[in-house]
Amino acid sequence: MASLLPAGRKAPFSQTFFSGQTFFSGRTDDSGESTAADDSKAIGGCDFTDANVISDIVQNENFYTISQVAVVSNAITNDNEADANEVLEEDGIGEEDDEDAFDNNFQVPSTFTIIEETNMTTVNNWIVTQLASKNDFTQELGKDSFKDKEELIRAIKLYSIRTHKQFEVVETRPTLWTIRCKLHLQSGCKWQVRAIKRKRSGYFEITKYMGPHTCLYNNISQDHPNLDGSLIAQETKHLIKEQPSISIPALRAKIVDKLGYIPSYKKVWTGKQKVIEQVFGNWEESYSALPKFLCAVQKFNPGTIVEWLVSSSTNEEPMEFRRVFWAFAPSIKGFVHCRPVISIDGTHLYCKYKGTMMIAMGVDGNNQILPLAFAIVENESYDSWNWFLSYIKIHVVKEREGICLISDRHLGILKAVNQHGSPWLEPRGFHRHCLRHFINNFYEKFRNSELKGLAYRAGSQNQVRKFNSTMEEIGKLNPQARQWLESHPLDR
Ligand SMILES: [Zn+2]
Repeated sequence: MASLLPAGRKAPFSQTFFSGQTFFSGRTDDSGESTAADDSKAIGGCDFTDANVISDIVQNENFYTISQVAVVSNAITNDNEADANEVLEEDGIGEEDDEDAFDNNFQVPSTFTIIEETNMTTVNNWIVTQLASKNDFTQELGKDSFKDKEELIRAIKLYSIRTHKQFEVVETRPTLWTIRCKLHLQSGCKWQVRAIKRKRSGYFEITKYMGPHTCLYNNISQDHPNLDGSLIAQETKHLIKEQPSISIPALRAKIVDKLGYIPSYKKVWTGKQKVIEQVFGNWEESYSALPKFLCAVQKFNPGTIVEWLVSSSTNEEPMEFRRVFWAFAPSIKGFVHCRPVISIDGTHLYCKYKGTMMIAMGVDGNNQILPLAFAIVENESYDSWNWFLSYIKIHVVKEREGICLISDRHLGILKAVNQHGSPWLEPRGFHRHCLRHFINNFYEKFRNSELKGLAYRAGSQNQVRKFNSTMEEIGKLNPQARQWLESHPLDR
């Protein structure tokens, strides 16, 4: 349906989202101006049954175990022949015949026969040893039939890591997976596994096995080649779902704990990205889901304000995301009871598509912080700050006068606040600078913790006498520091 792609990406963006009042809450911005479309269509664009964009978070992780015990009683020759036919069938190489034909084959034990015809001569001994190792192998894997290829691969990887052996893929197709010992050349190890997808059940079954490994891996390594990003993703998915901000070192420690190998930082990072994408959708889909999501928030949280800025679109050119502003209804209602103070700041977004998140916060009578409004914009500039501050005024501050705005000294903010008619200037309002930002700049200049502490104390004083004596102290320690502070007045 609707897709809104980040700037620089071309993809259709359904105009239905931007064509109704529902979405634009009465704004008449040139870029948000809707094209002619009927309102019923606009509302239809917000399909709330689809709106649950996070539904993928809960995924079914049941692993069905099909215990399929094959009793190897037939002659090995028949067994092998039947199995070979089956493989051809499964791969779609043989004739497409009816399901009954499969049933006939089904009674023939289909598991764990030899791969190389040359081994056929040593039938008896070979069967005995292979049966023993087949049981070991099945036991190690926990099963011999897997609901899909992914589950099979995971089981084999975990087995290889546990037993300190390595495999490489010989052949991989949607219906087939063949692997062998990675050290087959160096050590002559004949370990091989072949699994095929059963036509009827759709399950992957191990049809051929040669083992156990006879190789010796002497090279002591902290990492394991089969411990790759996909496996790391599978093994850490539950942790990342629970806490998406979990750090890479923390995830790595979990892997070391569980599997005994230390994967590289890069591999763990790759694994985490895979999970994030599986759980939350990829970056492009997320941009596309944003209108739907915020539309749902507005629907279920009446009074919530959302304002969009998108590229103007033509029939050929799809829309692109530029900015979005939102303020939750409880924030707007709550601000009435807050102190007349609003702090604003921006923070960089370190994701695939960069940008800046702007935040406005209020403080209640009990010094508790109340988030008031948010925006995602392309970067900090006069234009973006002016855009954000205008909507704060319109939707949050409204008619209230005498608000004190606290910010850092970003030039874009200064220009927006000081322009003609600004509601943030006396007598309508006040603009003060954040002491913490100011002191950080001071510290970067003089790199002295004692001076930093004193400057903080001076800035927090509400008595002129105490302020002056603290400034004296600073002057005694470093006259240049005092000069710097006095040349940057705290009230502007
Ligand atoms: Zn081996």
